[in-house]
Amino acid sequence: MNAYCEPRPVLFQPTDRADIQHLLTCEGEEQQALFQAARAARQAAGMDAVKLRGVIELSNYCQKTCDYCAIRPQNKEMIRYRMDADAILAITAEIVAEGITTVFLQSGQDPKSDAIVLEAIPRIRQADVNVLLNLGEKSRAMYARYVEAGADSYILKFETSDPVMYQNIVGTPLAKRLECARWIKEVGMKLGTGNIIGLPDQTLDTLVDDILLAQELQPDFVSSSPFIPNENTPLENLGVGDLQLTLNSIAICRLLFPHALIPAVSALEKIKKGGQLMGLNAGANVLTINFTPKDFRDKYAIYSKERFVVSLDHAHATIAAAGLRPRQAAQPVQSVSSCS
Ligand code: SAH
Repeated sequence: MNAYCEPRPVLFQPTDRADIQHLLTCEGEEQQALFQAARAARQAAGMDAVKLRGVIELSNYCQKTCDYCAIRPQNKEMIRYRMDADAILAITAEIVAEGITTVFLQSGQDPKSDAIVLEAIPRIRQADVNVLLNLGEKSRAMYARYVEAGADSYILKFETSDPVMYQNIVGTPLAKRLECARWIKEVGMKLGTGNIIGLPDQTLDTLVDDILLAQELQPDFVSSSPFIPNENTPLENLGVGDLQLTLNSIAICRLLFPHALIPAVSALEKIKKGGQLMGLNAGANVLTINFTPKDFRDKYAIYSKERFVVSLDHAHATIAAAGLRPRQAAQPVQSVSSCS
């Protein structure tokens, strides 16, 4: 694919924590060889075509008090909204019209949107697209109801594998979150999980443990995302997460989970122009395009007010620059209805 040195399969198949730790911090030529090995693993697994997801951020009400996130209830500056099923369906029509076949419903942990989501899912499914959810911790029964309604996958990031850090930063037990992750699999959904890189008190050891925890959970999707400081949160003055550590973590995940969907998250682009291209070059194969209408989008500030919002044009340019192609032909089919 490029002129970097040939992948060295022995070195680049991490088998224990020492290997993972070494690869997390590698730089220069060795890092380029790691990325090349990750791309080779992606290609060998038949996972080179980049999956596009269309995200709708349906509610910014939230019960959780995560120190990194601006939609936490303590942020009184935040103007709250909750879409109804008709609004979700109108945006779905825009996603479908672009040829995107995964509708990704994301929100704060908001029990009041459960009924709305349960109403929306079967209606979204009529468009013959997959429904991916990212709605937080629910009861096992609620996860089962999402499946009955037609959802097939769910992202619940563990954020950090360190139980003390998790409790301090998120305010609830890590064990509860991991129980939810198990339920998601048990009820028959594909599981996505992952970490945030750059949280307070995080060490290299924590990041190794994050990767080992992901291995334990055996997810279908896995992500590493750099921390982005968010206004009006306890962590607003912390620096951004380290880009190179994040890219190395993505590449290691590709080696360990060759068949996984791994996103090049928008936070990469937020911390560096071209950051998502770097993510694809490190082995990622998913881009998420934001379809939340602008008036709602400005209020869904999980990645700070000036977050980078991925457009379809940006996604296609990034995929082309990586020498890849989108998984589905994403040509506009026809315009259906739009959400004003
Ligand atoms: N309520 C859902 C969705 C949370 S938002 C849940 O609990 O899973 C989706 C993801 O955004 C989170 O899992 C977290 O990993 C990420 N996120 C939120 N704020 C962030 C920040 N400031 N920096 C980096 N990632 C952040």
